[in-house]
Amino acid sequence: MALAIISPGRDVRLWIENFKELDPEIDIQVYPEITDPEKVEAVALWNHPKGMLSDFPNLKLICSMGAGVDHILSDNSIQKDIPITRIIDDKLTTSMTNYVVMGVLNYHRQINRYQEDQKNKVWDMSNPEIPVTVGIMGVGELGGDIAEKLQQLRFDVVGYGNTHKENMKYPYFFGDEIHKFLSKINILVCMLPLTPKTEGILNLNLFRKCNKNTYLVNVARGKHLVEEDLLEAIDEGYISGALLDVFQKEPLPEEHPFWNKNEITITPHIASVTNPKAAAPQIIENYHRIKKSQPFINQINPKRGY
Ligand code: NDP
Repeated sequence: MALAIISPGRDVRLWIENFKELDPEIDIQVYPEITDPEKVEAVALWNHPKGMLSDFPNLKLICSMGAGVDHILSDNSIQKDIPITRIIDDKLTTSMTNYVVMGVLNYHRQINRYQEDQKNKVWDMSNPEIPVTVGIMGVGELGGDIAEKLQQLRFDVVGYGNTHKENMKYPYFFGDEIHKFLSKINILVCMLPLTPKTEGILNLNLFRKCNKNTYLVNVARGKHLVEEDLLEAIDEGYISGALLDVFQKEPLPEEHPFWNKNEITITPHIASVTNPKAAAPQIIENYHRIKKSQPFINQINPKRGY
């Protein structure tokens, strides 16, 4: 029995170290030097070469090395009955929440304006705060925590999801209620998983339903956003600016218009990076559960896509 790590182009030494610390006997095979594919019963993946999982005839478990599973489900060659798990971890959640809170605070307290003022030696005390209501698309593990922490900071929060929910601590809309959701907010945070239903959801049609001057924070996936539509929505005044951590193509190509757009702030997909020490125990626990035939933790629903 072996665990294969397939994460091309990434340094996986910390993962190996942590897996071995948790299970000193474990047989780990690392792509591309996988010598014994018949022994591999579980794989830990991040952006694996599509189609390659059919090399493992005894595969029983697929573990994402991050919160998202879109990189796995987009591989149509994967056998549909193999369970897929993902990472749910406090460190990952806190890091994401801190990033989004930073984006909300920077907008609310207009840090860009004061940085400009400082450059020009301007002392302007007028209107020091932009009133905000934060709309969060996707109030699951990450979005739910963002909502909670923003409420603790006394921000008004509105949630949007896929299914009906009871006893929410903030106004909540789902499905085709998107119009109502957008009408209540002036900061839009995308914290959705990437699925066939959510791909391209941040498009001109949606932006034109927003209140004028809505600020966008996209920390989910680049493919949620139709990038040229964002530029158009900024020109039309529906969107005032954006904080973007994820892009259609990463790294963002040098010639991309976002680089020089004053209204857009770019970070290089660092909003929340999986910490191998924190995440390794759940992968090892699931690996051991194969033998014990126990249900896996943090298993996703492949039909739903998250
Ligand atoms: P969860 O699965 O816990 O939550 C997903 C939420 O999205 C749920 O509330 C779900 O609604 C909602 N949702 C799904 N589909 C739709 C839809 N079609 N319309 C409306 N709402 C929908 O995921 P996480 O919170 O853990 O992670 C979300 C995503 O964040 C990941 O998939 C990943 O892509 C991204 N991410 C980005 C990182 C970065 O560094 N930039 C780091 C980590 C994650 P319901 O509850 O009703 O089912």
